Amino acid sequence: MYQYKKILGAVFAAIALSANLAAKKQEPKKNILTVTYIDVGQGDSILIETPEGKNILIDAGDGPTDWSSWDAGDRIVVPFLKKRGIKKLDYVLMSHAHNDHIGGLPAVLKAFPVDTFVDPGFQYNSYIYENLLTLVEEKGCKYVEARAGGQIKLDKYCYFEVLNPPADRYFRGGSEPNENSLVLKLAYKDVSFLFTGDSEKQAERSMVQNFKKDLLCTFLKVAHHGSASSTSQEFMDWAQPLYAIISVGERNRFGHPKKTTLKRLADYGCKIFRTDKDGSMRVTTDGKRYKTELLKETESKEPNKNE
Ligand SMILES: [Zn+2]
Repeated sequence: MYQYKKILGAVFAAIALSANLAAKKQEPKKNILTVTYIDVGQGDSILIETPEGKNILIDAGDGPTDWSSWDAGDRIVVPFLKKRGIKKLDYVLMSHAHNDHIGGLPAVLKAFPVDTFVDPGFQYNSYIYENLLTLVEEKGCKYVEARAGGQIKLDKYCYFEVLNPPADRYFRGGSEPNENSLVLKLAYKDVSFLFTGDSEKQAERSMVQNFKKDLLCTFLKVAHHGSASSTSQEFMDWAQPLYAIISVGERNRFGHPKKTTLKRLADYGCKIFRTDKDGSMRVTTDGKRYKTELLKETESKEPNKNE
């Protein structure tokens, strides 16, 4: 009888094992989260590919103005997404309405179907922003205004926690679009990312007061291209990033990033990546381990505006 049970047990174990293998085959192939900080020259653009295959873009660098025809969306972001095999974007988020963040977005909206567009909703008078909102409407994207305390569900494993702008007010004074930047935390198991737009002092103070430990992250997209008005000591004390990514143009006219910011990051022992020196940078993670790689081939082709 004992022998019989043992054989039966082995048979059940074999069935269970094959069922397990079959179940494994049906699971998504990768279960990997990928975050790419795209070198768009002076500006930001970040692509997120979730473990279940959703594609999300935050910002798309500079776009055309009355005085320059340069379009990072058309010249860098769209080709980059196409080369990556992306056919559709589930979310496009704008951190704030300045041209070096949203200027390239119209080219992206024209090139790909976009399901949902996310805006911090701060009113700002600029034709670039107004034209973008018109295009969002024309394309029939869902429009979402995100405020602190909210969540944006991306897939079964991942969501954005919204940390700024505050739910009940917008910041006044200083650079208002910057202070009211969309700030997002994304965590996949043990590995986390903070996307800070161009948020400055007021936003950081408010986030420190309201979110404290939620600011803790593995990878910090350094706010406002490493300007001295962001990345305060207090903010760093909560964020404690291991890696800091500065998205910034070579020899930009603003003098970003500032030495004081670089020193603060270095004093924290952060490994610093800079798009002006390192080009685009990609992080891949299974939620436990992670890998960083530089993608030299996507280096910015932005003309130097100071010359
Ligand atoms: Zn900016």
